Amino acid sequence: MGEVHWRELYREVVDTGLCTGCAACVMACPRDVLGYTVDYEPVQIGEGMGVDQCVIGDRGCDMCTRACPRFRAWETDLDQVLFGRPRDPETEVAGPARSILLTRATEQAVHAAGQDGGLVSTLLIWGLETGRIDGALTSQITEGRGPFDAEPFLATTREDVLATAGSRYTYSANPLAMKQADAAKLRQIALVGMSCQASINGTVEAYAVNKYKRKIALTLGLLCSKTFTYDGQRKVLAEHGIDVADVVKINIKGRYQVWTRDGGYHELPLKQFHPYTRPGCKLCPDFAAEHADISCGGIGADDAWTLTIVRTARGEEWLQGALDAGLIEARPGQTDEVAMNLLTKLSTWSRKRWPVDTLPETHRAPGLLPSG
Ligand SMILES: Cc1cc2nc3c(=O)[nH]c(=O)nc-3n(C[C@H](O)[C@H](O)[C@H](O)COP(=O)(O)OP(=O)(O)OC[C@H]3O[C@@H](n4cnc5c(N)ncnc54)[C@H](O)[C@@H]3O)c2cc1C
Repeated sequence: MGEVHWRELYREVVDTGLCTGCAACVMACPRDVLGYTVDYEPVQIGEGMGVDQCVIGDRGCDMCTRACPRFRAWETDLDQVLFGRPRDPETEVAGPARSILLTRATEQAVHAAGQDGGLVSTLLIWGLETGRIDGALTSQITEGRGPFDAEPFLATTREDVLATAGSRYTYSANPLAMKQADAAKLRQIALVGMSCQASINGTVEAYAVNKYKRKIALTLGLLCSKTFTYDGQRKVLAEHGIDVADVVKINIKGRYQVWTRDGGYHELPLKQFHPYTRPGCKLCPDFAAEHADISCGGIGADDAWTLTIVRTARGEEWLQGALDAGLIEARPGQTDEVAMNLLTKLSTWSRKRWPVDTLPETHRAPGLLPSG
């Protein structure tokens, strides 16, 4: 990377609004001089420092910049290192894939706990129980904040995985849980993360963030159009007479679906939530978690399956292992036309968010579409 460090990262990514709040920089900072705000932004916490200054950076440390999945030529570099070639912007709008499947857990308890087919939880449990990993960065419900607020969590047991399965539609910077994994001296970690967080899978490889390149054994990306603020969701629910304390599950399938404690089910118009989009999501071009080992979503015609995009050899090996162990069943993604069409449509929308017109040449990867 040369002479660039926190100063350039702050000016080019945080200050321009490209930062998604994925916390890769905070995770990678070897001196812990980067903190994380309640507004999901990295912040310099070194004493007497300005926001874009870093005394460690001035001495040559550029780990934060290397780990960032939005700095300069990130997309082209990550495609190259993970797939060995640039993507074809015409045919690979959702990113390169080895195969696209629909999968679901064969074990009833895991399937029931999962948001869709329970694939993510199945792979984590299998990885923990076979010693492939000794921990997973996931998210848990924040105590006392209702079922849709989320915070990073380090899962180390089957019980942890099942307790933290399902989706919360607030942002949770799961890479922050790596600090706990480091403190516990865990060696092999699975990262579960939103699309932006899943790109860390490529930055650690492309820019030699060697400690985490060795440590991250698998990255499971979650397809994502956006996340919403906790207060915004609570407000819209209240306008429909729903108390957050009564909500047991939320899902988003073109509409905002709510299940309540009394057995009730409600559908709310998604557009009422758009004003409460988390700012860090507004310029994100990545719907399909395009740099994960395996990307997982729920846009199929049938809610009980996880749309599963296998992208890397490592992802393929994990998926095959779980299949061979009889823990999942799978069918071709092409059997679900709804899912395949939505994948293309939602990926195309997200790609148009990247502000290509106003960014320097270095940020204009071929797959990033002009807005409009
Ligand atoms: C905020 C959000 C938005 C999403 N948007 C879409 C979408 O637009 N289209 C689509 O097809 N799919 C979307 N998904 C993915 C989908 O909801 C499922 O997570 C995915 O299909 C995997 O299902 P599963 O049953 O295999 O996962 P599960 O076995 O239920 O495992 C889910 C994992 O996700 C983790 N998790 C839950 N909430 C969060 C969070 N907020 N941040 C980070 N990690 C979390 C859990 O801890 C768990 O490890 C979204 C997910 C989230 C969290």
